[in-house]
Amino acid sequence: METLDLLIIGGGPIGLNCALEAQKNNLSYLIIEKGTIVNSLYNYPLYMRFFSTAEKLEIDGIPFISTAPKPGRQEALEYYQGIARQRNINIKLYEKVEKVSREDDLFEIKTTKGKYSAKNVIISTGFYDIPNMMNIPGENLDKVKHYYTEPYPYAKQKIVVVGSSNSAVDAALETYRKGAEVTMIIRHSEISKSVKYWVKPDIENRIEEGSISAHFNSELLEIKEKTVTFKNEKGGIHEIENDFVLAMTGYLPDFDFLKNSGIELQGDCLNPFYNSETMETNVKNLYLAGVVCGGKDTHLWFIENSRIHAEMIIRHILSK
Ligand SMILES: Cc1cc2nc3c(=O)[nH]c(=O)nc-3n(C[C@H](O)[C@H](O)[C@H](O)COP(=O)(O)OP(=O)(O)OC[C@H]3O[C@@H](n4cnc5c(N)ncnc54)[C@H](O)[C@@H]3O)c2cc1C
Repeated sequence: METLDLLIIGGGPIGLNCALEAQKNNLSYLIIEKGTIVNSLYNYPLYMRFFSTAEKLEIDGIPFISTAPKPGRQEALEYYQGIARQRNINIKLYEKVEKVSREDDLFEIKTTKGKYSAKNVIISTGFYDIPNMMNIPGENLDKVKHYYTEPYPYAKQKIVVVGSSNSAVDAALETYRKGAEVTMIIRHSEISKSVKYWVKPDIENRIEEGSISAHFNSELLEIKEKTVTFKNEKGGIHEIENDFVLAMTGYLPDFDFLKNSGIELQGDCLNPFYNSETMETNVKNLYLAGVVCGGKDTHLWFIENSRIHAEMIIRHILSK
């Protein structure tokens, strides 16, 4: 078995960025990705728009040409997959890393298809694979979706959207405009301040005029085949008719995977431990990159501000 200088787990934008940096510095490397190239973006809502402008999503200074100021999913797929193709990135797809263990000075990486050996490992597995569950009765019904793709299945249906961040607001507006009857159940007292600045007035106006009904300081309690039950801000319990629930309650990194790799998780947000200058974790030669670094606080890191991780890590590897 060849021993690689670097094995990168996860072929998202930041995993690709790490690969480009390794390539430039003549390190032998391999990305192992459990889906397609930039798999999280592939699974985003079809008509989403990034909140970042194109140049903020660029990696390794490669121009991201977009026809609109804020690119959409398809343009981002073209950009990142195009880079992987043109730069001949060494990547294995549809192969999941199951375990990372340290044997003396090397890592053994066990996947669904084989075993690898590497001197250094970067975990850049993101947070988009595990939905943040509400843990209420009925959440396992087929009508409950934790991923929203497009509005067309919901025409003329009674939809409950849970949450008030970007994903929830996009889903509420899109389905409303395709003829769904939309009710939002929101735990907080207002629409999230992080909602895209050009979308926020739209949702607030739709709520104010009554086109979309919204219950603030409210909580979904139970989902049944034809109804949902929720508690509103006055503590009143209401049962309303319902066809689909779009539970836009966020996503979480794979904490078990991080823990089993030996990484310490700290505090309420289960923040994985890393040195903020090198991105090295408490396990020597094991690094973190990208949005996985935030633990439960998935708003902390995004592409824009985690693009720097690649350079920091490769610089540290080369300095040893
Ligand atoms: C709807 C939406 C809109 C967003 N808009 C913006 C924006 O405008 N600007 C911005 O900067 N950020 C934005 N973000 C945040 C950011 O785009 C993403 O979180 C981004 O994908 C992070 O890149 P990453 O490489 O760290 O993680 P990811 O892109 O999530 O990549 C992780 C990869 O690891 C793979 N993987 C996971 N586990 C394993 C395993 N065990 N073995 C092998 N492979 C594995 C996954 O399949 C995935 O491809 C948005 C996020 C969402 C959900």
